[in-house]
Amino acid sequence: KWAKFPYHKTLTEFDLSDQTSLSKRQLTQLQELTWLEQQYNLIFLGPSGVGKTHLSIALGMEAIQKGFQVTFVTMGELLSLLKTEEFTRKAQVQLNRIRASDLVIIDDLMYMAMDQREATLFFHLINHLYERSSIILTSNKSPDQWGELLGDEGVAMAILDRILHRAEVVHMNEASYRMKHRQSMFVSE
Ligand code: ADP
Ligand code: MG
Repeated sequence: KWAKFPYHKTLTEFDLSDQTSLSKRQLTQLQELTWLEQQYNLIFLGPSGVGKTHLSIALGMEAIQKGFQVTFVTMGELLSLLKTEEFTRKAQVQLNRIRASDLVIIDDLMYMAMDQREATLFFHLINHLYERSSIILTSNKSPDQWGELLGDEGVAMAILDRILHRAEVVHMNEASYRMKHRQSMFVSE
């Protein structure tokens, strides 16, 4: 069990009433983890606060319960691990866990633009995981915008190709749950 989730959230805590693009039936299918057994990737897209990280963690916890090896990293953490692997033992250990995982959750994929070295390192990792593990990616950018963020167009295409080849894309576009359920400091009249 390697996950390192930023917090614990379960599928039972996931409220579907605001989700137009995810039905109860689809959620049940995700919970059954067939996608994981078949090395399918999941891509959760949508603006901030719609539940992308929550759903990823909940599915990750489900997978751990069923005996799968799971790791969770943010894209920022992943890039710094990849860049320090040569000379940091800690990065080596963590990356070896990622490479050996059945499920790798990469949160906030395209938050920032990558330089060419980062894109190349990321490509090598994706290439290693390809058809061996499942990946859950969350992003606030749609895949057609990933190209420009990945810097190098050729590398971007190769990465996209491998990730999207066997992937289920879920658009979570509803109004932010965080905003709707925020606690106001004002007493309502
Ligand atoms: P995102 O990763 O899309 O920015 P999060 O998953 O971090 O959003 O969700 C923000 C907060 O709102 C979290 O505390 C999460 O548990 C809660 N949340 C978001 N969507 C839902 C939902 N559908 N049901 C229950 N809680 C939700
Ligand atoms: Mg998030």
